[in-house]
Amino acid sequence: MNEVEQLKEIIASSDNIVFFGGAGVSTESGIPDFRSVDGLYHQKYDYPPETILSHTFYMSKTEEFYRFYRDKMLCLTAKPNAAHLKLAEWERQGKLKAVITQNIDGLHQAAGSREVLELHGSVHRNYCRKCGKLFDAKYILDSKGIPTCDACGGQIKPDVVLYEEGLDDETLRKSIQYISEADVLIIGGTSLAVYPAAGLIDYYRGNKLVLVNKSATPMDKRADLLVQGSIGEIFSQI
Ligand SMILES: [Zn+2]
Repeated sequence: MNEVEQLKEIIASSDNIVFFGGAGVSTESGIPDFRSVDGLYHQKYDYPPETILSHTFYMSKTEEFYRFYRDKMLCLTAKPNAAHLKLAEWERQGKLKAVITQNIDGLHQAAGSREVLELHGSVHRNYCRKCGKLFDAKYILDSKGIPTCDACGGQIKPDVVLYEEGLDDETLRKSIQYISEADVLIIGGTSLAVYPAAGLIDYYRGNKLVLVNKSATPMDKRADLLVQGSIGEIFSQI
């Protein structure tokens, strides 16, 4: 039995699956991964993406932050791929409890997933730092310079976890709970190099840890099933 067949069998026999996904889930929808070799690192900017997407940079060079953000982070035309759709289907069938994601593009919700824990926030939520009014991503995309609140004139900040910022406590707490109670934990499209997200895996207590990734990860030895390849292609076979 090959790996995909084994994964099929694991999925078929569980009703308590939790999925943990990284940038690789979104790259197949055309969203660039700024950590990957093919990603934004190799494009020309005055600063590396990690600097621009930091709290300090946002506070001190806000206009430059938004120039990059609008250009590179707001991919509002991207569509869910086979992996997003399959996860939403498993949730509807009562097999999957939650999707925990490091992505900020909202594609899981677009595919129909309901319980989505966004560790790094979402480009679809933006709030006024003065009055708290919420704005969608299109408002940011259509704005010029630094986007401001149409109610009070305050500065708007994306609800995205920037470098130097901590993860949301409630999102983290729920993620830990789902992972610690999961029967099957599938990790896909992530190199598992980013702390603290990578540390969440330690809360899993089951014996069906499935890793789906194109390249090797530091967690490969701990996996009960290792499936190498593109997550969209693999999930579309299940
Ligand atoms: Zn306001």
